Amino acid sequence: MKIICDFDGTVAANDVGSLLFRTFGDESCKEFVELWKQGEISSKQCLIEECRVTRVTKQELTRFADSQELDPYFKEFVQFCHGRGFDIEIVSDGLDFYINRILKNHGLDSSIEVRSNELTFKNEHRVKPQFPYFEHSCGQCANCKGHHVRQAKKCHSKVIYVGDGLSDRCGAQEADTVFAKRGRDLLEFCKQENIPHFEFENFGDVLNQLRHLKLY
Ligand SMILES: [Mg+2]
Ligand SMILES: [Zn+2]
Repeated sequence: MKIICDFDGTVAANDVGSLLFRTFGDESCKEFVELWKQGEISSKQCLIEECRVTRVTKQELTRFADSQELDPYFKEFVQFCHGRGFDIEIVSDGLDFYINRILKNHGLDSSIEVRSNELTFKNEHRVKPQFPYFEHSCGQCANCKGHHVRQAKKCHSKVIYVGDGLSDRCGAQEADTVFAKRGRDLLEFCKQENIPHFEFENFGDVLNQLRHLKLY
């Protein structure tokens, strides 16, 4: 069994990517995000635009990442899954720089695979995104989670998806079992599209469901 988790707002307590651009970008970031939500631009275009108006140094970005917390039960969840031999992977349409840093800060960098877009520094103050998985995209995503779920299904009997937002739509459509976070856009999407799902508040709930439902 494989469990694929979204990062921003799911594994991480905050939507770190969104907070990053609100902190170091400018007012236009909000508009790009709105356009993406409305399906007018892809998340790739959105990230390119957001990075274009962002001014941040490596040191500032590191300090910013160091202030970020994980879901309070995520570590326990990882231990449980590894104890049962379940694979966990983080698949994100965000950026590797903060994901790797935050996981490292919590001692999880070596135990979980991460597949995301990448952030590079063009010079001291300017960043640029890169998209290693874009060739597999549905067109709307920069890093389409549907692709990663399909890949996982080739070698796992069951793929569970845990997420919270609009970037999780493609992943949720392909997974065998979906966990959608309470009060967030993915939950609404699952309801609208009649995708069977479990609602969760934190990884403690996901853990309890996995224990009780004997999904494996
Ligand atoms: Mg998210
Ligand atoms: Zn997609």
